[in-house]
Amino acid sequence: MSDSNIILIIEDETSISTWLEKYFNQAGFKVLTSGDGQQGLQIAQKLKPDLIILDLNLPNLDGLEVCQQLRQHTNPQIASVAIIMLTARVEEIDRLQGLEIGADDYVIKPFSPKELVARAKALLRRINGHLGTHHKLWDGELCLDLAAHKAFLGERTLALTPHEFNLLKVLLERRNQALSREQLITLCFGYDYEGLDRTVDVHIRNLRQKIETDNAPKRIETVFGVGYRLVSQH
Ligand code: CA
Repeated sequence: MSDSNIILIIEDETSISTWLEKYFNQAGFKVLTSGDGQQGLQIAQKLKPDLIILDLNLPNLDGLEVCQQLRQHTNPQIASVAIIMLTARVEEIDRLQGLEIGADDYVIKPFSPKELVARAKALLRRINGHLGTHHKLWDGELCLDLAAHKAFLGERTLALTPHEFNLLKVLLERRNQALSREQLITLCFGYDYEGLDRTVDVHIRNLRQKIETDNAPKRIETVFGVGYRLVSQH
């Protein structure tokens, strides 16, 4: 873990924010904090943190709105920032995934700071794991620049979340092979990931919206009873 990772905590409950700041500092992160959605968004745009811990209920601009504005940002570095969202209720996670707002992980309050730090590190490891691999993955118009952590479709830069980037990388590396949801979870998110099978479906759906040019998906095929396959366009 590099000690230069910057983490932004957007949380209006000062007791939680102070406590998290302490834990993340101890874990070697540089920590920025904000207790306000609007201000947090501005800090994120200006200082480009590596990861954002984003509370759902915030004054001025709620976490949902902050997340949406980040993901729609024209700067791909800002649009693809890793986001862990904090929610008060487990039911919220289903609702949020249904809205496809693009947080990379969800943590329910109350949580242990140790667990949150572990999840943050795991998420950053998956993203930073690409650094130092100086090559590109191509398939037709689709290109993943692993060193720059950027994705392109023709001339267009794709704003992929870290999970979507990893998923696309895994699919491209194993193009034309059918991969089960379990395999995708393990390969993309790590053995310790506690996501559900349908988490994969949500990420695939979002990815399709970004890389498919026709209504009927031709790059990522659903393999009935198995999972998914990336079909080479060569
Ligand atoms: Ca709150």
